[in-house]
Amino acid sequence: MKLPAFLGTLLLPLLATAAVAADSSRPNILYIMSDDHASHAMSCYGSRINKTPNLDRIASAGMRLNNCFCVHSICTPSRACILTGQYSHINGVPVFNPIDPKRPTLAKYLQAAGYYTGMIGKWHLGTDPGGFDFWNILPGQGVYHDPVFLTPAGRTKHTGYVTDLIADFSIEFIRNRPKDKPFFLMCHHKAPHRSWEPDEKHAHMYDNADIPEPETFNDDYATRCSAATEATMRIDRDLTRRDVKYPLPPPDLKGPARQKWLNGVDTEVEITVNGQKKKLTGEALKKWKYQRYIKDYLRCIASVDDNVGRLLDFLDKEGLAENTIVIYTSDQGFYLGDHNWFDKRFMYEESLRMPFIIRWPGRIKPGATNDKMVLNVDFAPMLLDAAGQKTPADMQGRSFLPLLRGKTPADWRTSMYYRYYHYPMHHRVQPHYGVRTERYKLIYFNKLDAWELFDLQNDPRELKNIYADPACAGLVKQLKAELFRLKKELKDENRFENELPKDEM
Ligand code: CA
Repeated sequence: MKLPAFLGTLLLPLLATAAVAADSSRPNILYIMSDDHASHAMSCYGSRINKTPNLDRIASAGMRLNNCFCVHSICTPSRACILTGQYSHINGVPVFNPIDPKRPTLAKYLQAAGYYTGMIGKWHLGTDPGGFDFWNILPGQGVYHDPVFLTPAGRTKHTGYVTDLIADFSIEFIRNRPKDKPFFLMCHHKAPHRSWEPDEKHAHMYDNADIPEPETFNDDYATRCSAATEATMRIDRDLTRRDVKYPLPPPDLKGPARQKWLNGVDTEVEITVNGQKKKLTGEALKKWKYQRYIKDYLRCIASVDDNVGRLLDFLDKEGLAENTIVIYTSDQGFYLGDHNWFDKRFMYEESLRMPFIIRWPGRIKPGATNDKMVLNVDFAPMLLDAAGQKTPADMQGRSFLPLLRGKTPADWRTSMYYRYYHYPMHHRVQPHYGVRTERYKLIYFNKLDAWELFDLQNDPRELKNIYADPACAGLVKQLKAELFRLKKELKDENRFENELPKDEM
């Protein structure tokens, strides 16, 4: 029987809607991760120092997580946590060691579930990426200008700026994907990792600006144990000539002698202001070094932001925006002059916090925020859940899909376990582990047998260690109990010298 024309017209949109509904049970996933981008350098997180209009597009169309933390704040280990859904003591990547390619990962599970999987950009896990139908990665850290990329076919040197190239390759991956499968793409930017080298387009951004210094710029670490004093990542003392790009090396210096010169640190710098030569030392030099560092860091982020915009525009143009989950995050936070530091590693807030914004049209309410604790080990369970897959039994994270839908499970976590191992390289940050609750943070530096306790409600900048305050004795006891409960639950058993505090042995 032939249907009247008007009925066909009515049914077509209904059929199209049904097809979209079927597809949306297996959304595409575009997972964009940068390297060392702290959330306090994103305008959707209230940055005082820069604007990120394209990242803000993701946040305003979806959800911003306000308390997303890494369980280990350093590049390679955090990436392993994200891929395996496991803590470092379980996934075998506590430092910069390669990941075992036989280990199950998020990519392998999604590939087995029928996803077309891709990995583009910074991998930094030492062995060839497993579980990806396509990969095109930077060797190790990679370089900013004219970088080499590795594929299964070998090495290729490309002309251009690394952030632009990673976005180009990502667009190409999506364009060339098999159209009968949903895709999962990990688009991993190198930027804004040290050595903070911007492209031409952004090289003069902020030239005439004075970037505000953070509140804790002159932190003297007075109440903390010796770990903070020992760390070699200070703005005034540890930024090298290579970091501040000044002065330039003598042209006749070559090879190792040039590298040695670039790794030098100046305690006096001569600059020219309005045609006048001026010598900088002490406090003035520290302020100048901060400006040199933070401006290049922010210039690198401006390029990441532009290129995220290009990817979002491409999804719009291809009609893919509706059925694609888009995430932007970073492998950990970073010190932007906070506590007089650059780098990460410590369990203090600036490096513990990860930015995490996610949009999924029709599933996540635009402009939503969530304050619950989400961890990097939760990313894999959440993405598998979004793809209709159960959390594998050996993953330690938990899917936070209910939080994205505006529902908080009654038993959602209210505390998290953190652990850092790598010492003394590269910045002499003492190994430590600790617990963060919604209000407090207790840290144990195991080689020093030293404790720190912070009340994040009264002291959000963590300037006052109250561990030794007799009034806190009961609190300390409770937090220690919680720390060792988590340690047991997560199967972090004794494996290292001086791991347990003397009073717990
Ligand atoms: Ca990193």
